[in-house]
Amino acid sequence: MTCPACDLANKGELTGSYQANCDECTARQFANGIDLFNARKAGEMTPEYVAILQKVWGDDWEAGHERVKAWVKKKGKK
Ligand SMILES: [Zn+2]
Repeated sequence: MTCPACDLANKGELTGSYQANCDECTARQFANGIDLFNARKAGEMTPEYVAILQKVWGDDWEAGHERVKAWVKKKGKK
């Protein structure tokens, strides 16, 4: 499930737009977010980071984390 903003981001284009109802946009936002930054700095899943994942993906939060990581990788390629 993607949206025009994700399509742009997928092509490696910078986009500052996020669609509220798009899971991929949410993952993209988390990839750029402070909670992931802190978790990576700490070298572990912080309670704050797990909390935002659970808020969006519920019991599937680990799958959500995989999506966030995928966006981090894409970002790193640039
Ligand atoms: Zn999207």
